[in-house]
Parts: sequence; C-alpha cells; structure tokens
Amino acid sequence: MKTALICGISGQDGAYLAKLLLGKGTQVIGTSRDAQISSFSNLRRLGIKDQVKLASMALTDFRSVLQVLVKYQPDEVYNLAGQSSVGLSFEQPVETLESIATGTLNLLEAIRFIDAPIRFYNAGSGECFGQTTIAGADEKTPFRPKSPYAVAKAAAFWEVANYRDAYGLYACSGILFNHESPLRPERFVTQKIVRAAKRIAEGKSETLYLGNLDIQRDWGWAPEYVEAMHLMLQQPSPEDFVIATGEAYHLEDFVAMTFDELNLNWRDHVMVDKSLYRPAESVFGKGCATYAQTNLGWTAKSKMPEVIHKMLEAEY
Ligand code: NDP
Repeated sequence: MKTALICGISGQDGAYLAKLLLGKGTQVIGTSRDAQISSFSNLRRLGIKDQVKLASMALTDFRSVLQVLVKYQPDEVYNLAGQSSVGLSFEQPVETLESIATGTLNLLEAIRFIDAPIRFYNAGSGECFGQTTIAGADEKTPFRPKSPYAVAKAAAFWEVANYRDAYGLYACSGILFNHESPLRPERFVTQKIVRAAKRIAEGKSETLYLGNLDIQRDWGWAPEYVEAMHLMLQQPSPEDFVIATGEAYHLEDFVAMTFDELNLNWRDHVMVDKSLYRPAESVFGKGCATYAQTNLGWTAKSKMPEVIHKMLEAEY
C-alpha cells in the first residue's frame, strides 16, 4: 500500500486531496502545525477524519519535519502548508516567507538527508507570474511576483527546481491558479461574496464591502485541481505544470453572477472600499494549461459560472 504525507491537510486542498487519495487505496498521513488543537473541520465535513492519521509538524522546524518523514516513510509528500492568503501576506511578510520558502526548503533538505525515493509535490501559485498576457501564462512565462506571498512562492518554486537538478530528487511544482470550493474560508474573496449573498437572500440586511472589482482572475474548482497534483507525481519524470481553466473573469462578473443566481441586484448590496485595495496587485491573471492537457490528460471541467453555482448550492 502506498503512503502519502499531506502537509497542510486541514486546508481546502489538503482535505480534497486526502479524499482523492483514500479513494485510490493510499494510506494518508496528514500534518497540521498542532494536530492536538486543530479541529480538522474540512476533513470532518468530507467524512474522512477517521480514515487519516494525523501528526503535528512545523515546516519551519527541520527536526519536526525530519521526525515525521522518518516515522511514516511516505512514498509521496504533498506540500500544501503555509500562509496562503495574498492579502494577509502584506501584513505578515516574514511569516509568509518563512512558512513557504523555509518550509519548502526544510522538506527538500529532509528528503535529501534521508535519501529515500520520495516523490515530492510543491504547491506553487499562478500569483508568481504577476500580471499575465491575454494568452495566459504557461510553464515558460517568467515570474514577476507582485506580493510577499507570490515572492515566497517563487522562491519555493526555484528551490524545488534546484533540488531536482542538483540532487536528482523527484520534485515538482504545480503552478495552480485560483481554485475555489465550499471549503474556502471566508477571508478569501469568493467565499466572502458567496456567503454574504446567501445571507442577504435569506433576508439579512447587510452591505458587502469589496476591494478592486476590476481585477481579472482564472477561477477553477478545487476538487479537480487536486487530481492534477496526484497526476504530477505519477509521471515517469518530475516536471512543473500550470493548472488553470484558461478563462479569466472580472471580480465584478463573479459578484454579479453570484447575486444574479439569487435573484438579487448586486449594485443594491455591494460597496467598493478603497481601503481593501492591495498595495500592489496584478490586474489580469490567467493560466494556460495546454501542457497539462497534453502530458497529464488533465483539463478543467468547471469554469467560473459553474464554480459559483456549486458554491451557492453548498450548505454552510
Ligand atoms: P489553506 O489556507 O486552506 O491551507 C493551508 C494550510 O497550511 C492550513 O490548513 C494550515 O494548516 C497551514 N498553514 C496556514 N498558515 C500557515 C503558516 N503561517 N505556517 C504554516 N502553515 C500554515 O490553503 P489551500 O488548501 O487553499 O491551498 C493549499 C496550498 O496551495 C497553499 O500552499 C496555497 O498557498 C497554495 N495555492 C492555493 C491556491 C488556491 O486557489 N486555493 C492557488 C495556488 C496555490 P494548520 O493550521 O493545520 O497548520
């Protein structure tokens, strides 16, 4: 039986990936910074909390990383842990850099140190590209990160590439564009919009304050994106892949479609608050996943309108 270690199993992607891997008969070990106090509500929600083994691991603490790898001897390691909010990264740049860049480096070093044939997946981000062209960013597009989060993700990406080249590790990064689901916390703008619209539709008097509605993003469906992560570790040799829908929508479109599905006019309920604008932001972000389509057989089935529909359908 294959064993997979998911670092950051309590998050959105960690929970969906755990479910996917369990369905394939893989033994799943999941880590949290403090497994004793984490509620693992996403795992409970998916009904799989009792099917995974949970361990505490602080990615920034090499000893703790090494200890978990030695104890569980995984065949695959998925690094999904770290500070994941672009907005928060402007408030906590050091925490963001350390949890992502040092965290990834500790995992790579520990894998190298124990010299086991572990396959390593790293959660890269489409934010690394910064502003993209209309054609969308692919694996050859240079990084021009526009936030501390994106800078940290870019550093981690190059760490992975370097360990692959220098030490022959089976290590790769998935450069994933935004992917959403009911498991997204409300501090992410998509969930903030969906939940506020639902409350308003249920009769609550509420104004939704949002930042820049002109930005365009490529939004996909999280359960499909974790399939791409798994596929990347099943290839004959490690490679990096862009994973995206290939369609960009304005944030205003996301808002309008969400309210429209609930028979509401968004203009009656939404206000733009300039204090929510970020210090720097890429206005247009779109990915081109042609290489993944050709080489992994992966393609995004759910585009933004369907993502909204599925998020609205979910019970909270
Ligand atoms: P989440 O924020 O839902 O989960 C990340 C997990 O990392 C958390 O559950 C938490 O686990 C742990 N974590 C949070 N903050 C820190 C920190 N400061 N230091 C160490 N660990 C921390 O993220 P997602 O599941 O949405 O994303 C998974 C990965 O993919 C992340 O690395 C994210 O940056 C990346 N990514 C996500 C995209 C998306 O659209 N969702 C797009 C591109 C990349 P605990 O509290 O249990 O320790």
